[in-house]
Amino acid sequence: MKLLVAAIAVPAPLYRLFDYRIPDSAGHVLVPGLRVRVPFGRRRLVGVVAEAPREIETDGRDYKFIEAVLDQVPVFPADLWALCRWAADYYQYPLGEVLSAALPGPLRRGDDVEIRRQNILHLSESGHAALETLPARAHAQRALLQQLITTPCTRAQLLELLPKAAANLRKAMEMGWLMEVPVTVPECVSGAALAATPEQAAVIEALRASAKGFSASLLEGVTGSGKTEVYLQLAADAVARGEQVLVLVPEIGLTPQLLARFKERFGAGVASFHSGMSENERADAWLRAREGEVRIVIGTRSAVFVPFARLGLLVIDEEHDASFKQQDSFRYSARDLAILRAQRLEIPVLLGSATPSLETLHNARSGRYRHLKLASRVQQSAPPKIRALDVRTRGLDHGLSAPLFEAIERHLSAGGQALLFINRRGFAPVLLCHDCGWSAPCLRCDAHMTLHRGRGRLICHHCGAQQKAPVTCPSCESKSLVPVGQGTERVEEALRAKFPDKRVERFDSDRLRRAGELERLLADIRSGEIHILVGTQILAKGHDFAGLTLVGIISADQALYGTDFRAIERMGQMVTQVAGRAGRGAQQGEVILQTHEPEHPLLRTLVDGGYSALSDALLEERRMAGLPPFSHLALLRAEATQADAPLRFLNEARQLMSVESEGVQISDAIPATMEKRAGNTRAQLLLQSSSRAALQRRLSAWVVQFDSLPSARQVRWSLDVDPGDLY
Ligand code: ADP
Ligand code: ZN
Ligand code: ZN
Repeated sequence: MKLLVAAIAVPAPLYRLFDYRIPDSAGHVLVPGLRVRVPFGRRRLVGVVAEAPREIETDGRDYKFIEAVLDQVPVFPADLWALCRWAADYYQYPLGEVLSAALPGPLRRGDDVEIRRQNILHLSESGHAALETLPARAHAQRALLQQLITTPCTRAQLLELLPKAAANLRKAMEMGWLMEVPVTVPECVSGAALAATPEQAAVIEALRASAKGFSASLLEGVTGSGKTEVYLQLAADAVARGEQVLVLVPEIGLTPQLLARFKERFGAGVASFHSGMSENERADAWLRAREGEVRIVIGTRSAVFVPFARLGLLVIDEEHDASFKQQDSFRYSARDLAILRAQRLEIPVLLGSATPSLETLHNARSGRYRHLKLASRVQQSAPPKIRALDVRTRGLDHGLSAPLFEAIERHLSAGGQALLFINRRGFAPVLLCHDCGWSAPCLRCDAHMTLHRGRGRLICHHCGAQQKAPVTCPSCESKSLVPVGQGTERVEEALRAKFPDKRVERFDSDRLRRAGELERLLADIRSGEIHILVGTQILAKGHDFAGLTLVGIISADQALYGTDFRAIERMGQMVTQVAGRAGRGAQQGEVILQTHEPEHPLLRTLVDGGYSALSDALLEERRMAGLPPFSHLALLRAEATQADAPLRFLNEARQLMSVESEGVQISDAIPATMEKRAGNTRAQLLLQSSSRAALQRRLSAWVVQFDSLPSARQVRWSLDVDPGDLY
C-alpha cells in the first residue's frame, strides 16, 4: 500500500524533517510554505510544509496525520521562503526553528493571516443631536463625543486619549451615537526633499544609475554628513516606481530620529518593526508589508524576515553595528542576510556607516561593493579632532583628570554642553578590601560583582546575581572596603560634586528603565537644561545635539588589552561615533580621550588618522593573521553545570571531523575566556577556513552527527557561524 506524506519542518531543536500523512479532507494540494498543525509527541505544534507531498510504500511505521492546514496560500512568499531555507543551511540551524523565528508571534502560533482592519469612529446624526441635549453634568460623555468631532479615531486611540471612557464608549455605541467607518489604506506621498549638497548629489546620482538589478554600495560618511537624506531620496525614487523599501537599523529606541524623519517625509506609508511593539502590532506590519500596503518598513534585526510584495531597495544603516548579529539560538546576521536577499531579488542594497566594519570595507576595496563617500558635514563645522590625553602621572579624581575638568568648565562657561562617555554601568567594577584583598567575586561566574552604590547592591553584569553591598569585609570584617575603577554612577557623582549648580544626567540602562524616559531627557538636552551628560553607548548612536561642544572619553584602554580579535575595531567605532556627537551645530567640537597608553601604535593611528587609518592598519593585521575578512570562522560552544562535560563533548565532536579535512582547520577544545558563567562551565572549539563553501560543507555533515554522541546530551551546545566575538 502507498501513503501520501509531506515533510514538515517543526519548531524543535532537531535537524530532520518529519513525514506526516495528508488527510483526504485537506483537499487542495500542499505546497511548501503552508502552515499546518501537527501532533508532535504529546504536544501540538504549528509546522510548515517543507517539501511537496510524495508517495511512499508503507513500511510498518505509524505515520501521524496532519490535523489542519492553516493557510490557503503559503505564509512565506517565494523569496522569503528561499531566504529562510538558505539561512537554515548556512547558520546550521533547524529549518523549523528558523521558520518559526521568522514569523511574528501570532502567526507562529497558528493565528489567521487576516490584517486586523480597525474602524474609525465618527459621530452619527443622533450623536450630534445627543451632544445638544445631553445634560451639562454628563461631562465625560460630552468630552467623548466632542473628542470624536475634533479627531475621529479608532477605539484603541480613543481609549488612549480618554483612558476612563470605556463605559461611556459602550453606552454611546448602544445609543447609536457613533458610526464605524473602515480605515482606507493611505496613499503614500513623499514630502519635499532637501536640496542636496553637491556631495550628496553626486552620491545620489551614482546610486540612481544602478537602481535596477543587484548592486551593493557602501556609503561611508561621517556623522552629520547627510546619509539619512540620501536614504530618504532613494526611498522616494523607489516609492515613485511603486516599490517598497526596507531600512534596517540597530536599535529603534536609540535612533528615534531616523524613524521620525522617514515618517515626516512619507507619512502613513511608513511602518516600524521592532521588539518594542506588541506582537499584534508586529504581525499587522508584517502582513501589511506582504500585501504591499506599507511602502517603507524601518526595523531592527528581525525585520530582515518581513515579506514584501514589491521590495525595490534595501538600506542597512550603521551596518557595522554588532546588534545586527543575533547572539543566541538562531545566530544569524541580519546584515548578511539582507545582502543575500537583495542579491536574490536583484535589487540594490545600500550600507551606510561613519565607521564601516572591516568586512564591508574589505568588500568595498576588492570591488565587490561600490564605495561612495560623504566626506564633510552638511552644517559647516568640521568633524572634531580627537586629542589623546596622557593621564599616566596625573592624579585622577574618580577617573577624571584635572585637564578634563578644566575643559568641561571652559565649555560650560562658553554656553556649551559636555558629554562624558564611559562604557560601564554602576559605581565601580570592583569592591576591594584594603586589608585582606577580598574583591567581591560572583560565586557563579569568573567575574567581579559591580558595585551599584545608589541601590546599595552588588550586581554581577554577567549572570544578574545580586546581593546587598556589605559595609564590612565578609572575609576579615575590616571596614576598609574601597571601590576600585569607575562606572557611570561614580562619574556622575564626581561631576555633581564638582559642578553643584549644573544639571548632570546619567544615561545608561539602569537610569532609563521607564518607557519615555530617554525621550524626556533628550528633550531636556536639546533645550539646554541639561549641562553635562554621562553615559554609555546609549549616547553614541544617532542623536543630534546641536549644543554639545565637548566629548570626554574616560578611557578606551580596556580594548587595547582585550583578547577578542575585534576589540580594537569596536573601540575605534565607538570612539569615533561618540566623538561625532560633538560640534554638530555651528561650533567646532573638542574631543578628549584619556589614556594610560598614549604610545600604543593603534591608538596613535586612530588619534592621528581617524577611523579610516585605523581600519587600514587593522585590515593589514587581519590579513597577516589570516583572520576575517581574510578567512571564515565558526565557533562551537558548549556549557554545562558539570565541569568536565563541555571539554569532553568538544573533544568527541572534534574526533568526528576528519583531520584537517578539505582546507578546514580545527583548533583544540579550550575553556572559554570567562570559563565559569552563571554557574556553567564553558568551553569552545574554533573552525577556520579560507573557503566559505568548504567550511559550509564540513559543518553540514558534522552537526547532524552530534546527536549520536552521548556527551552531547550532557551539555548545551551551539554552533555560531561567522561569530561576532570569540567568547
Ligand atoms: P547622517 O545621517 O550622515 O548622520 P543626517 O542625514 O542626519 O546625517 O544629516 C545631518 C543634518 O544635516 C540633519 O540635521 C539634516 O536634516 C541636515 N541635512 C542633511 N542633508 C541636508 C541638505 N541637503 N540640506 C540641508 N540640511 C541637510
Ligand atoms: Zn577583608
Ligand atoms: Zn555572575
